[in-house]
Amino acid sequence: MQIRWSRLRIPFCWFDRHSPRREEAKWDGKYYVGPCRFCGKEVVRRDRGIWKLVREPLT
Ligand SMILES: [Zn+2]
Repeated sequence: MQIRWSRLRIPFCWFDRHSPRREEAKWDGKYYVGPCRFCGKEVVRRDRGIWKLVREPLT
């Protein structure tokens, strides 16, 4: 199996820890949402500095 994505380009996305472009992040009424600068997926801020791929309810 060949991994096409460079691990250096997406260092933390493998662990579901993303880093969005802050200037593109927006408040959707419940969460800050923005595109991850590394993997390009929409990620949601879950905690201070912690951005997750899945929009789960905060408990
Ligand atoms: Zn990512």
